Amino acid sequence: MIPAVLLAILLGLVWFSLRYAWWRPAVDYRYPRVLMYHMIAAPRRGARFNGLRVSPQLFERQLRWLSAQGWHSFTVSELLAQADTLPEKSFAITFDDGYADNLLRALPLLKKYRCKATLYLVVDRFDRDWSIQRKKHHDEAELKREAKLSDQQVQELLDSGCIELGSHSMTHANFLRIESEAVRRELVESRKALEKRFGISVGSFAYPFGLYHPEQVGLVKQAGYSSAVTTREGIENPGSWQPLELQRIKISGKDNWLAFLLRMRGGRRGWR
Ligand SMILES: [Zn+2]
Repeated sequence: MIPAVLLAILLGLVWFSLRYAWWRPAVDYRYPRVLMYHMIAAPRRGARFNGLRVSPQLFERQLRWLSAQGWHSFTVSELLAQADTLPEKSFAITFDDGYADNLLRALPLLKKYRCKATLYLVVDRFDRDWSIQRKKHHDEAELKREAKLSDQQVQELLDSGCIELGSHSMTHANFLRIESEAVRRELVESRKALEKRFGISVGSFAYPFGLYHPEQVGLVKQAGYSSAVTTREGIENPGSWQPLELQRIKISGKDNWLAFLLRMRGGRRGWR
């Protein structure tokens, strides 16, 4: 009979292997990694959305590692524009929604490690609880209470020279639930509003919740965007990029260090 302790170790190994799929080879390092972040903030006790909170300490450790391992930082638009000549180990950092900590906590670290990022900003982001657009029971208003970037703070980010501004729609609408005319407005009006407010051109979009119908991709193009990011997890060959449906790597505040390293290798966590 197998002693219980050996069995426990064996089960532990199986669990670990299925969770992290460490045997899977690294995806070609000529394929850029697009990293998806939301907040750079400490987790809150009992909060539902702690996955969206990467602590400043963990974020710094990730940037320090990227820098030490020779990774090259780009904005999303730069990745697209330079797709044919990107060096090995290219990556782009993205922030969705527009939380105030992106300026207060993330920017000093981006500067310290000479990294760039693309910020996907919701235009009407104040006093809005968009999590209920996805699931009705998400009604704790946790994300509504979270401090958002003021326009002045967005301007500070832009003035740093490290940040590209992209659109994340007017209201963080769920594109699966609204008519195509409303989708068109979310796309066009957000781009125009950001361009007018900040005097820049906006060429990149992030689908709210990563949700959309395939036929809405054409609307994104018509609205004047040249790239758009999804929440589908993966690392893709730039030679076969669908620029309006780019995959990303989710960086979760609930993941440990090993999970981050394995996601940089393989794009997604674990066995599927
Ligand atoms: Zn979002």
